[in-house]
Amino acid sequence: MDIQNQKIKIGISSCLLGNNVRYDGGHKYDSWLVEILGAWVEYIPTCPEVGCGLPVPREAMRLVGESDQPRLLTQKTMIDHTERMQEWAEKQVAKLQAEDLCGFVFKSQSPSSGMERVKVYPAKGGAASKTGVGIFAKAFLDANPLLPCEEEGRLHDPGLRENFIERIFIMQHWRNLMANKPKPGDLVEFHTHLKLMMMAHSPAHYKIMGKLVAAAALMPFDKVLEEYFELLMTASKKSATPSKHQNVLLHILGYFKKELTAEEKAELIGLIDQFKAGLLPLIVPVTMFNHYVKKYDKAYLAGQHYLNLHPAELKLRNHC
Ligand code: SF4
Repeated sequence: MDIQNQKIKIGISSCLLGNNVRYDGGHKYDSWLVEILGAWVEYIPTCPEVGCGLPVPREAMRLVGESDQPRLLTQKTMIDHTERMQEWAEKQVAKLQAEDLCGFVFKSQSPSSGMERVKVYPAKGGAASKTGVGIFAKAFLDANPLLPCEEEGRLHDPGLRENFIERIFIMQHWRNLMANKPKPGDLVEFHTHLKLMMMAHSPAHYKIMGKLVAAAALMPFDKVLEEYFELLMTASKKSATPSKHQNVLLHILGYFKKELTAEEKAELIGLIDQFKAGLLPLIVPVTMFNHYVKKYDKAYLAGQHYLNLHPAELKLRNHC
């Protein structure tokens, strides 16, 4: 099935969907997550505080103690909910493993759901340090170190948003590959489709991944898949800089040596230069190339995720 017709499963902090699960009975509805990204994904909501049995409304909580092992305490009455939350989190993380999630969006700053920079208060009082991780988020991240995960606030940054969405789509491709019990030939094909995408993120990783795929016959295939997946997700997380995109775009231009006139090539090079200089969004040269890919029936390029990974409606690559 075309990946753009599949609903990608994403875990999410329940209050971001507009569910009234917060300590004060409210929510933290995020319109972009619900109305835009929500059209392409199936959200699996989790509210750790309600999930572990606390009521709505409830007393607010915070992290107290050491940053690496804080306690989860109610703010005024100092009731310690750490064990209750940890026990529930362990079960919930195991339950979520069965969902084959392609990512998770966490609510920032929460002592239960925050992914990073959550306030931790010293046990003896004083100013908080922004060094904690929410108790549920930590359990989930420890069990899923390679899964694309972000906080809702960071997703308002166009570059971080683009990177997260690319990663969840790549993850879905990976899940599809694994669901079909792949053979070495399937991995070769998977790797081929990713070439330009990986060149934009990390050419060094792409090289190592290529060597691994080439050596697949020499080692247990399970091990190859495991190592490949780790390289894939590590590479995808690296930011695709304008210079790396420029290299990829010039590489694509090389496939049209015979078809394009000198003027058409000059026009494309001009667009690439303007993109590199921050004067045009990436979508402009990419759209031009997609036009030529169709016009000249370039099957290899048409199969490249770099040119068509995510739906146009998400309006990615539209920023300078
Ligand atoms: S931040 Fe997490 S624990 Fe708090 S209301 Fe939202 S989902 Fe529940």
